[in-house]
Amino acid sequence: MVAQPTRPVVVVNTRAVARLRYGHPWVYRSDVVSSEGAGPGAMVEVKNERGRFLGSAFYSTASEITLRLLSSGKIDKLAELVRQRVRDAVEYRKKVVRDTDAYRVVFSEADGLPGLIVDRYNDDLVLEALAQATDDRELKQVVVAELVRQFAPAGIVERAEPRIRRLEKLPPPEGRLLYGEKSETVFTMNGVRYQYRALSGQKTGAFLDQRENYAAAAAYAHGDALDVFCYQGGFVLHLARACPRVTGVDSSRPALEQAEQNAALNPGLPEIDWIEANAFDLLKDYAAAGRQYDMIVLDPPAFARSRRVLQTALRGYKELNLRALKMLRPGGILVTCSCSYHVGEGEFVEMLASAACDAHRSVRILEKRGQSKDHPVVLTIPETSYLKCVIATVSI
Ligand code: SAH
Repeated sequence: MVAQPTRPVVVVNTRAVARLRYGHPWVYRSDVVSSEGAGPGAMVEVKNERGRFLGSAFYSTASEITLRLLSSGKIDKLAELVRQRVRDAVEYRKKVVRDTDAYRVVFSEADGLPGLIVDRYNDDLVLEALAQATDDRELKQVVVAELVRQFAPAGIVERAEPRIRRLEKLPPPEGRLLYGEKSETVFTMNGVRYQYRALSGQKTGAFLDQRENYAAAAAYAHGDALDVFCYQGGFVLHLARACPRVTGVDSSRPALEQAEQNAALNPGLPEIDWIEANAFDLLKDYAAAGRQYDMIVLDPPAFARSRRVLQTALRGYKELNLRALKMLRPGGILVTCSCSYHVGEGEFVEMLASAACDAHRSVRILEKRGQSKDHPVVLTIPETSYLKCVIATVSI
């Protein structure tokens, strides 16, 4: 018989027990009763105050999210469990991902691999460790080996977001190749081509969570289109296939430069105007000048990074949406998004209603959408659902 490895035990209070039982994998620091012997990134056994076993979790010494539950059972061989979860994640995508060679392969808690993200861009893969436990060298090697087996990629790059690494007290990021040689590639979403450069320029990659919304928006595309947070052309290049005149605006010059290069990868598109500007100022100026559009896309960065700034964020969203609604011709289409988890769908739609009212426009909702299915939403983990995308039409 193989002896079970002894793991440190972390005892949690009744509030944590209720949360775990509900199906949410997090335990906050304030709900931890004791954690003797648990080091950074350790695999631990979780118990209630009466000593009852609740599951196995990743431990963090730094994050407010002290425990991330991996399993309600004992874990004998972590490597095996991780391999199986990666395989399951890949299988799930085979069922739900269409018309793209770029998508999220592993989405952290939503795939039972808390603190791990893997994205695919054609023959390049990108791995990101967001927690002490997943930043472990051996664990990353296990993931890389399984990804190589599944995809035979030309390269696997490690990406790191400095802000998240600071929260987890992890050493400063270094973007680097974990496997193979290739860190640049061209990928195709819904038939539109984009370049991906993992180690140079803007390292964010594409907004893969918007992929299905690009296609949905393109189905309504007509006339003059304006996208004021266009980044590397996600929406713009989709709309340009149907709209004779398209303008992409962003405050980031490198994003616009990449957008322009992306446009060149797609022959047959009309001339696109790329403008470096602050979206708020530009919308104000264009509205004052009486400009009109048939389609406007609003996909700003997250305005509400915490619940505390919700009201300020909603004011920001409202200002943008109000101006956009005023500039749409009758029959015009608004595609409006929020990637702030703290702004709920109800609040977002209410904000839009209030903007429509102030703009004196009658607005019909065509579609209420979320993130693409490769970013699964787990019903009992509300944090996995964050993107809102409303497509609406202005009738008068
Ligand atoms: N819709 C894009 C993603 C947008 S991300 C896509 O699907 O690919 C948000 C973008 O807003 C970033 O490119 C960022 O540079 C830009 N941005 C942030 N603040 C801005 C501002 N005040 N005015 C214009 N662009 C801004």
